[in-house]
Amino acid sequence: AVSSAEEFDFFYLVQQWPGSFCDTKTGCCFPDTGKPATDFSIHGMWPNYAKCKTQGELDGVIEMVTKGKKKCWPEFCNSEPLQLWEIKDLVKELDANWPTLACKGGKSIEFWSHEWEKHGTCSDLGQHGYFAAALGLKARHNLTAVLADTGIVPSDSETYSLSSINDAIKEGTGFAAKLECNRGVAGEVQLYQVYQCVDRSGENLIDCPVPVQGNCKNRVQLPAF
Ligand code: 5GP
Ligand code: 5GP
Ligand code: 5GP
Repeated sequence: AVSSAEEFDFFYLVQQWPGSFCDTKTGCCFPDTGKPATDFSIHGMWPNYAKCKTQGELDGVIEMVTKGKKKCWPEFCNSEPLQLWEIKDLVKELDANWPTLACKGGKSIEFWSHEWEKHGTCSDLGQHGYFAAALGLKARHNLTAVLADTGIVPSDSETYSLSSINDAIKEGTGFAAKLECNRGVAGEVQLYQVYQCVDRSGENLIDCPVPVQGNCKNRVQLPAF
């Protein structure tokens, strides 16, 4: 593995709520496999440092992202393209759980390829391992069901307290998650992405080694999809 692949501390498993991705000024497009389920879907699994690093601490590591003067995660660790044959047995599950919603041609494999090249190449898991790990985590911790269990269901009229969402995820998965909100076409604050911290093996949720404070307001929507 390349040096940077050995240096990250944890993954964020990032899942997006399709209703919130679509309900923006940009809108969305369904993939060529049809309308995805009314379910969170995977955006990516992103290697991260627990502590952002300065250039001096990153000797020999290339292609880092800069936040101010610090690099907070590795990306594009090598130029190994995603090979369809490597993940052939996962494609059905990927189509169902990792669909593209961007208006970029509707081929989800292009989204998977981007996530592999930008993030997966830094993971040390290999192509099959990377995608299987993300799918496994999503299946074992069903966010849509965890929220529904406490009455947090998709609705274009209801708002939910941020603490009720945080509590449901903590209770239902065992760990606090970082929540990201965006704004709908009418300016409403809606739950867009959930960031769960995962150990380097890609197998287990962990307590986040970084603050889980997100950008959501007191009350948020979970728009219909
Ligand atoms: P945004 O600016 O929309 O938050 O993020 C744009 C892209 O930057 C994401 O899709 C992702 O590829 C990358 N990114 C944003 N935040 C993080 C992070 O905390 N860790 C990693 N590894 N990548 C991130
Ligand atoms: P990141 O922000 O992970 O670097 O980049 C996400 C990239 O994947 C963007 O270029 C975006 O257009 C593309 N993409 C394709 N489908 C999706 C999707 O369903 N959700 C998001 N967030 N990005 C997608
Ligand atoms: P990527 O350019 O790098 O196309 O997209 C950057 C970010 O823009 C994505 O992470 C996503 O949040 C947003 N984005 C990209 N394509 C779409 C789209 O078709 N619809 C919506 N609503 N957002 C998008």
